[in-house]
Amino acid sequence: MPDKSTTSKPAAPKPVTPAAESQEPQTAPATETLSALRKIYPIVKYGDPILEKSTSVVKEFGAELEQLTEDMFASMYAAQGVGLAAPQIGMRLRVAVIDVTAGKNPEAKIVLVNPEVVHYEGEKREEEGCLSIPGFRGYVVRPQFVTVKAQNAKGEPFEIRGEDLLARAFCHEIDHLNGILFIQHLSMLKRDLIKRKIKKMRKLGEW
Ligand code: ZN
Repeated sequence: MPDKSTTSKPAAPKPVTPAAESQEPQTAPATETLSALRKIYPIVKYGDPILEKSTSVVKEFGAELEQLTEDMFASMYAAQGVGLAAPQIGMRLRVAVIDVTAGKNPEAKIVLVNPEVVHYEGEKREEEGCLSIPGFRGYVVRPQFVTVKAQNAKGEPFEIRGEDLLARAFCHEIDHLNGILFIQHLSMLKRDLIKRKIKKMRKLGEW
């Protein structure tokens, strides 16, 4: 697990636990300038019913949506993640942001509005985590290559192909928009173990 980020403004609320919605260790992102004027949303944690509900298709595009997606990037970088879906900040919208470079390359930022998987192939089993389930990871089989059709914040349609970590991030975030969490892809045994631990943590006020 990487060290906690110190990139957010002092006044901004910080997520309690550092967690990577990722499969690979990362170094701290260089996002000072990016997140300087941004709203940092607290990340909704497992147990909140919004994470297991479906989301609505986005029909309005433009400045407001662009602002939201930039705030989502800032929130994601502050939480040291590589992907964030709108339900994770309490919004039931088909919007997700991904940056598998965790803020190191501005060109790697991907905004997915109303995304759909149009093609996938291959299989890869890797460890996965989620910003909404901090501290827990598990091996999940995902396609090795995934092509997604989506719109950007302006409403312009595009297609993008991802491999390995990016393909995994596409699947993980689109799952979020359908109310599905990565633990639902784990064995029942492993999933129940995680759920039991979280229940215990919640009782102790640690969740
Ligand atoms: Zn997640």
